Amino acid sequence: MGRIADNLARIRETLPAGVTLVAVSKFHPAEALMEAYGAGQRVFGESRPQELAAKYRELPKDIEWHMIGHLQTNKIKYIAPFVSLIHSVDSLKLAEAIDKEAAKAGRVLDVLLQLHVAQEETKFGWDAAELEHFLQEKILMRLEHIRVRGLMGMASLTDDMSQVRDEFRTLRHAFEAFREKYLPEMDILSMGMSGDYPLAVEEGATMVRIGSSIFGARAY
Ligand SMILES: *Cc1c(COP(=O)(O)O)cnc(C)c1O
Repeated sequence: MGRIADNLARIRETLPAGVTLVAVSKFHPAEALMEAYGAGQRVFGESRPQELAAKYRELPKDIEWHMIGHLQTNKIKYIAPFVSLIHSVDSLKLAEAIDKEAAKAGRVLDVLLQLHVAQEETKFGWDAAELEHFLQEKILMRLEHIRVRGLMGMASLTDDMSQVRDEFRTLRHAFEAFREKYLPEMDILSMGMSGDYPLAVEEGATMVRIGSSIFGARAY
């Protein structure tokens, strides 16, 4: 087995049934993705729309492509016709723009709402109160070409694992509360990356986004 296949096997062994592994392949060449594909991986995550679209064109058509990075409204058109899940919806403006592009493509797009739970100012996402307002007022539910499947979040980049755990727990509590009150059909909680996914799984993640532990360091 090659190194990437090895890494995938090792990670899959630790994931409970029902947790989906998104292989985060941003900045890695098509050959690296093909090695993962050869090892059975079919779900890939990318953070830049044009790179995602180029890989979609080049690689096998049974791959499920996930957009995981911050998305600008003028770039949605590159991915709307084929993307499987957008993890990073962090504003009403973006949700409305995705709805519009999805309508043009004749699709209903699955999305996750990105919640800001980290201490860092720089990470994108709604704050919980703001998001709750839009859910309460049913503003997001009026967009007929998006389907909210769940929440996504990123923990702080810190060695303090109790803080990371607290942030994942905050995310799960928001997920459960919003599901109960507003969106009973939500079924995806996307949290956990290479450095912290075991904690995320313990705290209830149903989807993890893992890059460097599979593909190695990224060459930017
Ligand atoms: C890059 C990225 C990941 C993967 O990070 P690794 O530390 O390489 O596993 C996960 N989620 C998001 C949103 C990312 O941008």
